[in-house]
Amino acid sequence: MSKGLDCPVCGFKIQLTIDMLVKRDSIFCSSCGLKLTMDKEASKETINVLKEFDKEFKNIENKKNSIMNNYKTN
Ligand SMILES: [Zn+2]
Repeated sequence: MSKGLDCPVCGFKIQLTIDMLVKRDSIFCSSCGLKLTMDKEASKETINVLKEFDKEFKNIENKKNSIMNNYKTN
């Protein structure tokens, strides 16, 4: 799954993680160095949804890790 944002200047696919979307309001194209700033006000609701998702996702990861500890060799 390759999700990303096409740089409007050079067309480079800028990889975006949920972490980046939630924590940073600006990103840089690693090809041409263009700075892209997110419209925080317009994105507020989506960001909140992503934050919730991020929290849940980390929860699930924790649960997955803890259940893996239940595997034992007999
Ligand atoms: Zn670029």
